[in-house]
Amino acid sequence: MNIRDYKSMVSSMGCLLCGADAELHHPRDGQGMSQRASDWCVIPLCPEHHRGPQGWHGDRTAFRLSKGMSTEMDMLAIVIRHTVSRMTGSHREDNGWLFVIGPANRGDQ
Ligand SMILES: [Zn+2]
Ligand SMILES: [Zn+2]
Repeated sequence: MNIRDYKSMVSSMGCLLCGADAELHHPRDGQGMSQRASDWCVIPLCPEHHRGPQGWHGDRTAFRLSKGMSTEMDMLAIVIRHTVSRMTGSHREDNGWLFVIGPANRGDQ
């Protein structure tokens, strides 16, 4: 898989918090290009949860209220679990991931 396919697979997950159309957050972005993590290290977030007032680059309220997604490492783990299970064809509805980002969470945004 090349990096372009990987990034489109990750953004197709939708926002980790609400499932809306996502853009990609790079851990440590905003600290200058030399600090920027690899493109393989990306997290799908909608514009609001990425750059909005309560988003990652805002005060992060939305992340503190969410279960198990208060750090970038938590979110990367979810992305990795999802992409690996997709590639190995072992994706299951009860693997925990869908409970976290399923449409059921959309209402309370
Ligand atoms: Zn970002
Ligand atoms: Zn969102």
